[in-house]
Amino acid sequence: MSQEVKLEEKYLAIEKLLSMLKVSGKKYDIEKIKLAYLYADEMHEGQFRKSGEPYISHPIAVAEITAALGLDTDSICAAFLHDTVEDCPDKTNLGILEKKFGSEVSMLVDGLTKLSTINVEDKEEAQIENIRRMLLAMSKDIRVIFVKLCDRLHNMRTLYAKPENKRRITALETMHVYAPLAHRLGIQKIKQELENLALSYLDPIGYEEVKQHIERKYGQTQNLLDNVRSHITENLEKYNIHFTLEGRVKTVYSIYRKMFNQSKEFDEIYDFYALRIIVETELECYTALGIIHEMYKSMPGRFKDYISTPKPNMYQSLHTTVIGREGIPFEVQIRTREMHHIAEYGIAAHWKYKSGAQSREEIDNKLQWISKLIDSEDGTIDADDFMHSLKIDIFHDETFVFTPKGDVVALPQGATLIDFAYAIHSAVGNKMVGAKINGMIAPIDKCPQNGEIVEILTSSSSKGPSRDWLKIVKTGEARNKIRQWFKKEKRSENIVIGRADLDKEITKIARNATESQRQEIITRLAHRIGMQGADDLCNSVGYGGLAISKVLAKLKDEVERVVKPEAEEPKVVEVEQVKTAPVPSSGKSGGIIVDGQHGCAVKFAKCCNPLPGDPIIGFITKGYGVSIHKRDCPNVTNGMKSEEFFHRWIHTEWDLADIKRMKTSSYEAVIQIFAEDHISLIADVTMALADMKVSITQINTRKHNDNDVIINLKFACKDINHYNSVVARLKNISHITNIIRGLN
Ligand code: MN
Repeated sequence: MSQEVKLEEKYLAIEKLLSMLKVSGKKYDIEKIKLAYLYADEMHEGQFRKSGEPYISHPIAVAEITAALGLDTDSICAAFLHDTVEDCPDKTNLGILEKKFGSEVSMLVDGLTKLSTINVEDKEEAQIENIRRMLLAMSKDIRVIFVKLCDRLHNMRTLYAKPENKRRITALETMHVYAPLAHRLGIQKIKQELENLALSYLDPIGYEEVKQHIERKYGQTQNLLDNVRSHITENLEKYNIHFTLEGRVKTVYSIYRKMFNQSKEFDEIYDFYALRIIVETELECYTALGIIHEMYKSMPGRFKDYISTPKPNMYQSLHTTVIGREGIPFEVQIRTREMHHIAEYGIAAHWKYKSGAQSREEIDNKLQWISKLIDSEDGTIDADDFMHSLKIDIFHDETFVFTPKGDVVALPQGATLIDFAYAIHSAVGNKMVGAKINGMIAPIDKCPQNGEIVEILTSSSSKGPSRDWLKIVKTGEARNKIRQWFKKEKRSENIVIGRADLDKEITKIARNATESQRQEIITRLAHRIGMQGADDLCNSVGYGGLAISKVLAKLKDEVERVVKPEAEEPKVVEVEQVKTAPVPSSGKSGGIIVDGQHGCAVKFAKCCNPLPGDPIIGFITKGYGVSIHKRDCPNVTNGMKSEEFFHRWIHTEWDLADIKRMKTSSYEAVIQIFAEDHISLIADVTMALADMKVSITQINTRKHNDNDVIINLKFACKDINHYNSVVARLKNISHITNIIRGLN
């Protein structure tokens, strides 16, 4: 009985949180959240914050902010527990948390604990950018960042209790790392509060000055602004628009920045006051904009349409600045309720929670939603580009590694310790004899992981890099530096190797070439490409600075001249039957008939890369012609479901007669080749393609697992028959297990 009463008493402290969750309309595991709270309370028992409050007040506040952001049960639990592992190491650990609250919660707490050890202080701008990216990359789950931002926000709200020197460091870190992070994730609300709080500590006098300016001006103009509001309300109502009107003064920080960065006087800042009109539909956004522009004079150059061109962080809105009757300029932002929600909560607004683990695939699916949004609204942003930059920014295409001194080095994923050494300095790479990861000796071709500390062991007696390193390194930087070394240090060796390679090529063309003819060919070729003599050319080929393939045509030329000058045959002049300019796949009409019309502007969708012969359908974009998809492209299947755009799908067919006349391979085919990793694999594939006279437009390889690789290949292609014959030939290559069309 008394136990129960005690519990009820304890729950009083999280009453606010519990009622927030209740009214949110979302599903939460309230029992689990209560348990996380009770456990955190027990762990932090007897600990106090600098302000004198019991420590548990901090996790409670962080949990409240987390819940207000709309995050899920596990995030709220992690918010309660985020300081337990670090602050109470003798009472609890990740293993215990996992048993009590599951692997998701312990994973989130683990991420939060790791992030807390990163110290920014006064590092340079470039370094800070790395830290921001590292934070994103290191947190395997984006929720870690969300909770971390909530934690930081509460620490900033209570920063006054900390000693002076701590305040400065924390405020600086907030301004340089956490506010931009919140901005990038589109969480405007948290970003603005972080900026304002940080500014109030970093420049308290400037902060007060701007704040007073705003209050004074607001006081002077309040009546006028009230008039503007009622005037606008009246007009919008006339047009039967359902809307909410919000008037707000811009944040202190945003005005401070304009005053000091653009050195403007306060009175020169036009949009210190902003009106926000929130409507139901996109159409109403534009209608409302028309009404506003009819009522007031708009300031030229200040209109921005972020609805048709959303910002990379997904922000959508219309912005315009107009001049009121009384001569006061003010900004008007117009957006739908949904856009408003995204503006406030960013990616968090779209975060869908499932009980299971959240895989890379789910994240990708989520991002696809954004791409669809953009694709269907307008063609002005290339959805592929956008997706790519979003992924690079937010997800893990990079590895961040520490030097023993604590500097961060960013490497592309899959880079080795050799790449790391050359990233530090070529002298370090050239003298490298070994390496340590987290203090343990590691093979130099190993790939370091996020957050690991890497130390390169060097020796002045090192004989320099090995040629094999060229096959191991991942970055162009390391490859170039290694080649430079060979160029400088191993000239005689390079010349021998390069000459042997050139000899091999000459033999392929003219088996019977004599020694002196070979020498003459190489010398002539060297002069022809602007080199001093044969040795220079052999040296370049030898250290890898010049690929023979680049000069192959010229080499053939010289062989023909030197070896068989008298055997010159009359040249066959090729006459094309019909002169048709080849149409590149991105070009105008591209061999497509749109709804019976020839010569319409079309583009080929990158999602499915249709080839002549494929069943196709067109989608009318705004301003970018008709975009052509394969009929069975998932974007078509999904896109057809939207009633709004149904009328924009249009019948299209290939103009096969036109395509036949083109002769050239004007289309691009995209395939993925699955194969067992084998030393000659790439050579076999490229040789087979060269043999078929198929030109490659892009090829890259990635590891699928330990033994298997995936080759992404794009090649120029005539039509579907051509495609089928190329793929059939490739399938015959040993070690290739499967080939599929398109990118996955
Ligand atoms: Mn904390």
